[in-house]
This record gives sequence, structure tokens and C-alpha cells, in this order.
Amino acid sequence: MKDHTLPIQLDAQDEDILDIALKTMREHLGMDVAYLSEFVDGRAVFRAVSAPGLEDMIQPGQSIDIREVYCQHILDGNLPQVIKDTSQHPIATALPITRNMPIGSHVSVPVTREDGSVYGMFCCLSSTPNPTLNPRDLSVMETFANIASKGLNVTLGRRAERAARVSRVDQAIKENQIEVFLQPIFTLEPRALSSFEALSRFRSVPYRTPDLWFKDALSVGRQVELEMMVIRQALVHVPKLPNNVRLSVNASPETIASGLLTELLTTVRPDRLILEVTEHAIIENYSQLQVEVETLRSLGVRIAADDVGAGHSGLTQLLRMKPDVIKLDIELVRGIDQDSAKRSLVMGMTHFAADIGAKLVAEGIETEAELETLRQLKVHKGQGYLLGRPEAAASALARRLESI
Ligand code: C2E
Ligand code: MG
Ligand code: MG
Repeated sequence: MKDHTLPIQLDAQDEDILDIALKTMREHLGMDVAYLSEFVDGRAVFRAVSAPGLEDMIQPGQSIDIREVYCQHILDGNLPQVIKDTSQHPIATALPITRNMPIGSHVSVPVTREDGSVYGMFCCLSSTPNPTLNPRDLSVMETFANIASKGLNVTLGRRAERAARVSRVDQAIKENQIEVFLQPIFTLEPRALSSFEALSRFRSVPYRTPDLWFKDALSVGRQVELEMMVIRQALVHVPKLPNNVRLSVNASPETIASGLLTELLTTVRPDRLILEVTEHAIIENYSQLQVEVETLRSLGVRIAADDVGAGHSGLTQLLRMKPDVIKLDIELVRGIDQDSAKRSLVMGMTHFAADIGAKLVAEGIETEAELETLRQLKVHKGQGYLLGRPEAAASALARRLESI
């Protein structure tokens, strides 16, 4: 069968009413395969399939010429909806698919859209005749088809969106559509270059910010792979840095807990690296993360808690991880010169940082007033458009290192 649209990969959380209806119908009728097809330009496109053990033969996204299957003959009334034994029906016997698949028995129900037009078919089939099939089976199948076709557009829209995400992330990884940008981080008093944060830029049209890409990768189970790939790319720049300038890379708790980082980071001098960790969700396997963090720390990698003060980054991470660096989120920095509550919070953080021996870095400094306030609050370091924007690694290094 020819690929007509993208293969749709589903994971457990995507099991919806459609999957449940197909599986239940197939099991109830004792058949091998159940599927929903959509008629598109004279082809039947398989939109959802339940066929355990036969996944190679029939997959979502594949399609077949409508004249090569039973559908049209059933809609035209030339084949019955319930076929207990295909050998008893000359039209079925004459179709090559009956022999090739093979098909011994077949039950189908047309699916209509809300406007009454035919969308496609719900079908169940088996390789052998099934003499037990009866009109009650057909009415059960009609009921299930009815339930499953409610909200079909929403369900299929969600699947198509996910399929697009799967292929977008796959392409970005396969074609390495990522460029490493570097943004400088400075000590505030006196002002001196301290490190560069590696930030990913995806060469996509239309442009999408890196956090969206990493979220997409997470949702299709490829976050660790993508993060490892960009870190590998960023590490290339470490040998170009002067001894007192470090490279900061971002990694999710999942990537750290995977244990894959340790080997990668030791390919350069780990004591030249900072690892920025953001807690985006509840960390499930905290003890594994803790073990890896301690291993990395013992190799000389500094650990930074990223986006501290942002909605999703809780204090728990700070207390448990005892980071070497605390990065104050842009939300805390924005307009700090005019907001006494933000100033109190940052003052508290300077005490906390001193207590645990961590350095404070303020992110997203855009104005002189914000910078001056942060300096008065004794925040150690700063990063932001005012001090230097992220730019392609080569030009960032050329611009910043010539003055050292
Ligand atoms: P982050 O790690 O907190 O990075 C800081 C973000 O603030 C960057 O956004 C940076 O461009 C932006 N920024 C820096 N200074 C300013 C400023 O003065 N004003 C404003 N408005 N923004 C400023 P970017 O590069 O869009 O990245 C967004 C987020 O995406 C990052 O937040 C990080 O969570 C994620 N990300 C980016 N690159 C990577 C990567 O290579 N790996 C991983 N795991 N995550 C990445
Ligand atoms: Mg960061
Ligand atoms: Mg941040």
C-alpha cells in the first residue's frame, strides 16, 4: 500500500475513544483487524487501526485505491455489510485483496459527517470465514461507530497535529537544523566576562522559539535526544574560551537523570562547564537525578538552578539541589527598580545564596535602572540584552574575546 499521509504514532496517553471503539469491536466480533478509513480523492485512507500482530500490513496514514477494496461495493449495495464467508460472494472473490491479505470475513458500517456526507467506513475483517457473524453484531458495530464518530474531527485534528509535531522534531534532529548562539554573562562589580550561555536557534520557517521546540520534543518522547545533540554541538566552543570563562548549557532533569551527560561532558574539561537545570514539571525520579548531579559536580561541573522565581520553578529544587549558581528569572528582574516586592525577594535570595555558597545571576536585564538596582542589591552576575544579546557562536566569541 502506498503512503498517502504521514504515519501517525500514538502513545498510551493518546488512546482515545476511537482506539477503544476499534479494539472493542474487533474483540467482540472475534476478528483480526478493525479500522476507520476516510475517503479522499478516490482512495481509502486508514485513519485509525487496531490490528495486533499485523501492524506491518496495515498502518494509519496508508491508503488504497477505493476500487481495490469492498467499501464502494458495499455503499452501492452490491456487497452486504456482513460477509460471513467471502468465497460466497463473486464480487469479493474477484478483488485481488481478498486473496492477497487474505480476507475470509468482513463487516462494515459507513461513517457520515455531521452534514450527512459519507466520511468513510468502520470495518472489521478476518483472514478466515466467520460463520457466527449475525445482524446483532452489525447493530453493535453501528453503535460503536456512532459513538466514535462523535467529535471525530477533533480527535483526528489532534492526531494530525501530533503527527506534524513528530515529523517536525524528527526533521530538526535528522537534518540538524540547529545553530548554537552564545549570550555573555558578566560579573556586575567590576564588569567582567564570566561565562557564555549556549542557546539553541532552530532554522525553521516560520521561526519558532527554542522553548517551543524543546516542549514539542518532550511531547513526542525525543527531548533527551535533542538536548544531547545541542549540548554536543555547544561543547565544540569550550576549547576556544579563555581559562576564566565558562560555558553554560541547558538540560532538563530528564536528560541529567538519563546518565548520558556524564560521558559527554567529560569529552571536554568538565570544570569549564555550568549545567543549567529548569524544573518544568514534578520530577519523578528525584534520587536518580540527585546521583547524576553529584557525579557531575564531583567532576567539576557547576550546577545552576535556572528560571528561579518563574511560575514553574519551585523552591523545592533550590533546597534539594543546593546549586552552585542561582539564575533569577526575567520575571523577577523586569522593572525591579520600580518594584519593592521584587527587591525584597532578591535581597532574600542574596542571603540564601550566601548561606549555601551559591552565586546569583540575574537574567533578562534590559535597562540601566534594572542593572543599577541589581548591583546595589549585591547580585553577583547579570545577563540580558543591555549587556549583550545572544548571537551566533563565532561572532559572539570574536566580539567578546578580542577585548580580553
Ligand atoms: P533560558 O535558559 O532561561 O534562557 C534565557 C532566555 O532569555 C533566552 O531565550 C534568552 O535569549 C532570553 N534573554 C536573554 N536576555 C534577555 C533580555 O534581556 N530580555 C528578554 N526578553 N529575553 C532575554 P531563548 O534563547 O528564546 O530561550 C528560551 C528558553 O528555551 C531558554 O530559557 C531555555 O529554557 C530553552 N532553551 C534554549 N536553548 C536551549 C538549549 O539548547 N537546550 C535546552 N534544554 N533548552 C534551551
Ligand atoms: Mg538557561
Ligand atoms: Mg532562564
